[in-house]
Amino acid sequence: MPYKILVAGPQGSGKGTQSERLSEALGVPALSMGQLLRDEIAAGTELGKQMKELVDTGRLVPAALSVAVLQARLAKPDAERGYVLDGFPRSLDQYDVFTDQPTHLIVLNIPREESLRRLTHRLTCSACGAVASELDGKMEGDACACGGRFQKRKDDNTEAIDRRLGIYEEETRPVIDAYRARGIVRDVDGVGSIVEVGGRVMDALKS
Ligand SMILES: [Zn+2]
Repeated sequence: MPYKILVAGPQGSGKGTQSERLSEALGVPALSMGQLLRDEIAAGTELGKQMKELVDTGRLVPAALSVAVLQARLAKPDAERGYVLDGFPRSLDQYDVFTDQPTHLIVLNIPREESLRRLTHRLTCSACGAVASELDGKMEGDACACGGRFQKRKDDNTEAIDRRLGIYEEETRPVIDAYRARGIVRDVDGVGSIVEVGGRVMDALKS
């Protein structure tokens, strides 16, 4: 049976990190919607051109367009045995047009204080987007493996984080509820080390 796994959780819950781990453990590709859209734009396809125009003029990419990009990716041979998809669907309008049938939705739950603690200490490489944390001893200005430097993002401050957490509750929570009604949601406590949380995620997949 293929593992078609969605990973959701509030800002700072470790979605990206745990998705990468799951992808390695299961031998299926890890996909992130943001990256797929950036790749499509960079490739200059017909869809990519439509999206570039929207993004360049500051508009949102409609759900139907982003889902078209995603479904094309899911049709590639390496996704036949499954996938791990991070941060999608993010809202009910995306949920409504996403016709694939995921087998699991892993929800990484962390309290607001933990989101704040992790994100206010988060460092992002300005060149490649890799993330690191002051909580692990990294410092602003440290070099990334790509040659870039780690910096704090301007929007990793309390007000902006609270705004993003509010959007998660308002827009993504209804998506989780919809999948819960389909019986595929696995709630995971996201507080703890990467390895601890990773162990819980694997346990949740077996349950
Ligand atoms: Zn980098």
